[in-house]
Amino acid sequence: MGMPIYRFCPSLKMINFFGTTEAHLNELFTSWGEKPYRVHQVFNWVYNYRVRDFDAMTNLSKALRSKLKETFHFGLPRVVETSPSYDGSVKYLLQLDDGARVEAVWMPAGPRKTLCISTQAGCRMACSFCQTATLGLQRNLSTAEILGQYLAVLDDQEEGITNIVVMGMGEPLDNYGPVVDALRLMVSPQALRLSTRRVTLSTSGLVDKIDRLAGEGLHVNLAISLNATDNTVRDRIMPINRKYPIETLLDSLKNFPLKANRRLTFEYVLLEGINDTDSDALRLARLLRGLACKVNLIPFNAFGTSVYRPPGEDRILAFQNILISRNYSVFIRKNRGSDILGACGQLAAQTTASPLQYFN
Ligand code: SAH
Repeated sequence: MGMPIYRFCPSLKMINFFGTTEAHLNELFTSWGEKPYRVHQVFNWVYNYRVRDFDAMTNLSKALRSKLKETFHFGLPRVVETSPSYDGSVKYLLQLDDGARVEAVWMPAGPRKTLCISTQAGCRMACSFCQTATLGLQRNLSTAEILGQYLAVLDDQEEGITNIVVMGMGEPLDNYGPVVDALRLMVSPQALRLSTRRVTLSTSGLVDKIDRLAGEGLHVNLAISLNATDNTVRDRIMPINRKYPIETLLDSLKNFPLKANRRLTFEYVLLEGINDTDSDALRLARLLRGLACKVNLIPFNAFGTSVYRPPGEDRILAFQNILISRNYSVFIRKNRGSDILGACGQLAAQTTASPLQYFN
């Protein structure tokens, strides 16, 4: 449909430039006998001037340009559908080269424009309250497919993107290498140039990978989906807890390196009658004591087959007040985009429109 052909059939031997880190390109350029500053020139064309044609990179030699052309292509996920919400957010249904589909959600809030991106098609964590879990794991996304969600949405969004949250479909730390490379490109001064304060990775709590992330020197924000205060409940709603129980998770987080004035975020999905009592709030306050953190309460977002319900407003506020009275910063997360199934835990990459619309 008038799309550049490379999006659909890149030569198998070609590398997607958007998955290439500075370290990768440095290595390649060294092997080609090119000077290291050439790496910066190429990155500058691609990420600063948004040029996606090596022939236009006029400060490079013709020989280098043609080598680059033989090696790389610029492939982005294809926007299949955009669903605008009454609250201003927009859900993007994106199709990858092999037909796999993922979702990204763009959420404006004053000057802040946050994009929530996916790291896997589906997910294998099997959390009982999450719609993505119902898909199982289809596959991991590549670095280019993770970064490409940002680039594809940016091409479409005049208002831009100021923040990225890695909180969409999938468990980011279950796709560790590609996710870390994508994070490096996001915060690199040569690539997306986002401040590390504006990038947040959310995990269900894969402790071995959190420990590894601690050693990467990345300093992006870390959010942890805690969602329960005792192991019996957490085992049931988040099976990953059987491998890494609450105490193990919190021990690891106590050693996670935080820059000055930075805090961890704990996400807590409120499920009526499951994890929303005063005793839960008190236990949560006790568990988090001594950690530099804030708490995001997320009232459960319902979806087709879910058995859970969100607590009433009084219960939510009572839960919040117990934590506030113990000096925690606690926010109730608005259900952005819930009318378009774009809210937390509602991403399942379903098409809502009739396929006929594409032939009109
Ligand atoms: N796998 C990662 C990121 C994806 S889930 C993680 O677990 O953090 C993003 C957030 O949405 C998590 O905090 C999760 O607990 C929450 N969530 C999942 N399903 C939800 C639902 N139905 N309602 C509200 N929040 C939900």
